[in-house]
Amino acid sequence: MSHVYPTTLFAQPTAGTCDDAALVGIPFDLGGKRRGPSLGPRAIRFAGLVERLVHLGIRVHDMGDLAVPDAPVASPWALNNLPAVQEMARMGYEAARQAMTTAQLAIFLGGDHSVSMGTLAGVSSWMREQGQHLGLIWFDAHGDFQTPQTTPTGHMHGMPFATSLGLGLKDLTHLGGFAPKVAPERAVLIGARDIDPDEQIRLEQTGITIFPMEAVEERGIRRVVDEALAIASRGAGGVHVSFDLDVLDPREAPGTGSPASEGMAFREARRALRMIGQSGLLRSIDLVEVDPLLDHRNETARIAVELLACACIR
Ligand code: MG
Ligand code: MG
Repeated sequence: MSHVYPTTLFAQPTAGTCDDAALVGIPFDLGGKRRGPSLGPRAIRFAGLVERLVHLGIRVHDMGDLAVPDAPVASPWALNNLPAVQEMARMGYEAARQAMTTAQLAIFLGGDHSVSMGTLAGVSSWMREQGQHLGLIWFDAHGDFQTPQTTPTGHMHGMPFATSLGLGLKDLTHLGGFAPKVAPERAVLIGARDIDPDEQIRLEQTGITIFPMEAVEERGIRRVVDEALAIASRGAGGVHVSFDLDVLDPREAPGTGSPASEGMAFREARRALRMIGQSGLLRSIDLVEVDPLLDHRNETARIAVELLACACIR
């Protein structure tokens, strides 16, 4: 049962934002090396997400946090906690489909990045039922393009981009009965700077457009996002953003488990999400890999709140 916050609590014009947003927390961190990102949804809520959105005049349908598995489980594969990841992905899939039915914008709070295996599947499945294709913009310092055959660590938060593009265990790639969730010609990766060489080759061979961090520095975030939107929206009815907080420079966003230096500035990320929001194409967004145990005074969660507010601007 979701809770709807009345916008009348705050006097604020409703023009210039999406009308309503559905909010789902996925407190899951068994896809990564260390525990902590499962506390992300609480940290982002404590940083004032609902209040911020309501203050903008947005009706918030808070669907709460999913009761996903929280205990490590033995896996028959060299994939850590695989049964837990599978159950989480099925729950995320169902919740995402419901969120898409509920509001103009669906917001998913991770959790480590494996949560996107479920959310993207649900969003894509819902769009498919409306007869529409989905575009994808993936913000990440990393490629997240490992597969069960290639992963050096067995951590499943290194695989969700590949899974969504149809590479991986069939149980996950075919969640909802189809694959891929997004066609590679409508998939874009922005901000990458820490990609394994074999991962880079797979990304390129799959046909994904990559704007590494050097491209952001050379061309500027505005041109990169303009191009990304054009690619992701080609023939699509809407765009999903999967935003890993580690795309940001760790000096600004220290609360993530796989930091990579020379990252995107907060003001660049803010501009990017504002542009994507204003394009009118954004239907859903994941905000993942906030780890309050590594954070400094909840700064990374506060950045997450600000980025989500920007994504709601129309
Ligand atoms: Mg990631
Ligand atoms: Mg990452």
